[in-house]
Order: sequence, then C-alpha cells, then structure tokens
Amino acid sequence: MYIDSHCHLSFPELASRIPDIRREMAAADVHRAVCICTTLEEFPQVHALATDHDNFWCTAGVHPDNEGVQEPTLDDLLQRAALPRVVAIGETGLDYYRLNGRSVAEMAWQRERFRVHIRAACATGLPLVVHTRSASDDTLAVLRDEGQGAVRGVFHCFTETMEVAMAALEMGFHISFSGILTFRNAETLREVARAVPLERCLIETDSPYLAPAPHRGKTNQPAWVAHVAAKLAALKNLPLETVAQATTANAEALFGLPAITRGT
Ligand SMILES: [Zn+2]
Ligand SMILES: [Zn+2]
Repeated sequence: MYIDSHCHLSFPELASRIPDIRREMAAADVHRAVCICTTLEEFPQVHALATDHDNFWCTAGVHPDNEGVQEPTLDDLLQRAALPRVVAIGETGLDYYRLNGRSVAEMAWQRERFRVHIRAACATGLPLVVHTRSASDDTLAVLRDEGQGAVRGVFHCFTETMEVAMAALEMGFHISFSGILTFRNAETLREVARAVPLERCLIETDSPYLAPAPHRGKTNQPAWVAHVAAKLAALKNLPLETVAQATTANAEALFGLPAITRGT
C-alpha cells in the first residue's frame, strides 16, 4: 500500500471528483493522502477533506508563489496547526522562478513568509513541507538560520541537484519524489533518487500537476503515486513491495500518522 504525501485535492480540477478519486485510490492500493494547503483562504476546504475522510490528513501554510492573498502571521499558522488532522506546516519555501522582473533582493517578503512558517514548525514540532524552485541556496540558508537544526520535514517534488539533496539530508530532511522521476529528460533527478537512502524517501503526486508516465499531460491524481513508487523501485533495483512499505513507513513517521503497515 502507498501514501501520496503531497496532493492538492482542493484545487478545482479535483475538488468536484473526490468520490471518483477515492475509488481510484482504493483500486490502486493508495490508502492514504496528505492534502496540502497553499493559502489561508483555502485552508477550511483542505481541512474539511481531512476531517471528512479518515484516510486524508492536511497541512497549514501559504505557498511562496501566492501573492495578493492573506499573509500568514505566526499566530494564524499556530491556530490552524492546533486543529485535529493537521500534520505539517506548509507548503512553504522560496520560488524565484517567476520573478516577473523583480530582483532576488525584492523577494524579501517571500523569505520573511518562509521564516514565519519555520517558526511555526519549531513551535509546534510539526514537520515542514518545503517547496524550492530556482532558490535552493537561499532555501537552505534560511532553513539553517531560522531552523537552527530544530526543524525537520521534507523537500517536496524534488528537482534540485545532488548537492542540494545531500545538504537537505544532512539537515535531517526527507526528499519526496514525484512523477517527474518518470519524465524522459529527468536523468539528473534519477541519479539523485538512486543516491537518497530509502529510509529518507517519500513519494507524492503533487496532483493535479505532473502526472507520471504513462499518464503524462492528464490531470494527475493520488492513485498514480503507484507509478512513482514503481519508478523508484526500478532505479534502486529493489522489489516494489520494499519501496511501498518503506515510503509508507517514512510518511507515517514524519507526519505522525497511525502506523498500519508494520509487520505486514
Ligand atoms: Zn510545491
Ligand atoms: Zn504542492
């Protein structure tokens, strides 16, 4: 059985299809999913997914790409983190991919937002779901500075270099692989996946984005995390069952989910 450690079931492409999505999950042996929050405005809907379904959990946070939304204070995050079934802070981090003509210096607001999330993770002891794109040096620097070694979590939808992966592992973070692992041009990422110890690997879909082969170009869904697991198993030359059990156990431990797979 599998856990999709990162999906956006509140997004319009998926929100209206939850019963179908759950059926497909069950058929593909994907037993659980973590529903990721990207704005405070969206949080009630994400949280409802987790309270309405006993195999969904959720996070609280504001994505670095989201502008013109409510800026989270530490207290905003702590209040939501205290609610039942909230298992992580995020997704948060830094994204300099779309600067829209701005300099990195002008993205100080994003770094401050990231720091607020790190403070919330430290205060609650919850893991941090980190998004980083075209900003890995600053992401690591802010994590080190604000986290002071006390924060743990996951670099989600990993697409960075081996060097960044090793730095994240060194800080005690997990690395989560998405359907990008199956993309033809992702050889560098596949090398990273071979190198990350299995006990630090998670798998995710990042639905509705990044559908893995053989579904590329379609609307992604949690059921397809099984394709990510299969690719990871092939890369590591391990039985699929070994990767399924390990990534499930890793997600259970990181997010504090009830363990249902031990000894099976
Ligand atoms: Zn992300
Ligand atoms: Zn995401």
